[in-house]
Amino acid sequence: MTASSAAPRAGYEIAAQADLGPLNTFRVPVRTACLATLHDAQALAALFAEPLLAEASKLFVLGGGSNVLFTRDFDGAVLRVASRGIEVIEETAAAVGLRVAAGENWDGLVRWTLRRGLAGLENLILIPGTVGAAPIQNIGAYGVELDEFVTRVEAWDFARRAMVRLEAKACGFGYRDSRFKREAGRYLVAAVELELPRERELRLDYAGVRDELAAMAVGKPAHADVARAVERLRRRKLPDPAEIGNAGSFFKNPILGAAEATALQSEHPDLRMYRFPDGRTKLSAAAMIEACGFKGRRDGRVGVSHRHALVLVNHGGASGAEVWVLAERIRAAVQSRFGIMLEPEPRIL
Ligand SMILES: Cc1cc2nc3c(=O)[nH]c(=O)nc-3n(C[C@H](O)[C@H](O)[C@H](O)COP(=O)(O)OP(=O)(O)OC[C@H]3O[C@@H](n4cnc5c(N)ncnc54)[C@H](O)[C@@H]3O)c2cc1C
Repeated sequence: MTASSAAPRAGYEIAAQADLGPLNTFRVPVRTACLATLHDAQALAALFAEPLLAEASKLFVLGGGSNVLFTRDFDGAVLRVASRGIEVIEETAAAVGLRVAAGENWDGLVRWTLRRGLAGLENLILIPGTVGAAPIQNIGAYGVELDEFVTRVEAWDFARRAMVRLEAKACGFGYRDSRFKREAGRYLVAAVELELPRERELRLDYAGVRDELAAMAVGKPAHADVARAVERLRRRKLPDPAEIGNAGSFFKNPILGAAEATALQSEHPDLRMYRFPDGRTKLSAAAMIEACGFKGRRDGRVGVSHRHALVLVNHGGASGAEVWVLAERIRAAVQSRFGIMLEPEPRIL
């Protein structure tokens, strides 16, 4: 930051001309005309009245920067949400209700719930980023998605210029999708309310969790054991953004209708597919990228992880534009071979 016009005790900080390099996990070196850091959601109205923000041509809300790709400098204002606090708002014999400030670290929250013996979030351990960003794409991993636990989302509605409380049903959650993602730019998530059970059936039938528990010699697993198993799997399979810049899965797994899936399967019988009970079929984007020969391939300063074909990496010093050129090359190859256009998962700016 180069200039600060308000002290943190005001509930926010604001600076002109700031470096976003340390604030995105791809670690691409970009700058923004204005960076505001919000520590207290109650200070939002005052923050919006700051000339640097009020006069900005556009605004982008940032959390931990683990699901964005900046392809060039941002000529508007970036508002980074850093408010903290986990509050118990309801407690019964069966479950606990939490209200979590948007700037809390997601993985930190998962570990907080595990320490208190709460169930549900164990499969979602080690997902980078903030709690406020979690509803945006309805984060999911190892057979569990966030929307199973969300009761309400508190958000600043830019259209109404007011704080609103949206019940889970109004959030329009789907696979890596939500109303917040579809109506990008309308809401700033200020807090998320979750209901976590004290007991819950374990989800073990996904991507090697059972095998990992067996390798750990755990016979009768508890929630914390599942968390440890998922953590071990993730550390092995995914490159750590602290070591090599990346944003996790770069593409969403495409979902096809039954007829389309059957046609594709007859042309590519070896392609991995998962059929939902309603006939819709999820394809493995990683398998298609691997089949096109991109897994582990390096292209100058960018490449595809050798550990996971869905993960694009910055080997060091690359720009966001270089990452995007590689992404476009992969999309073109998959389209030409399978007739499927892959959709990026991170927000591309
Ligand atoms: C190594 C690695 C592994 C990953 N694994 C998974 C995984 O298993 N499952 C999964 O679902 N994701 C995964 N991700 C993606 C990412 O961690 C999640 O999408 C996460 O929720 C992003 O949080 P963030 O705070 O970094 O969001 P950002 O990257 O800062 O923002 C992402 C989007 O959310 C918006 N946003 C952020 N905060 C707010 C807010 N408070 N209000 C309104 N909009 C907001 C931004 O505008 C942007 O559009 C992974 C990423 C990495 C780097």
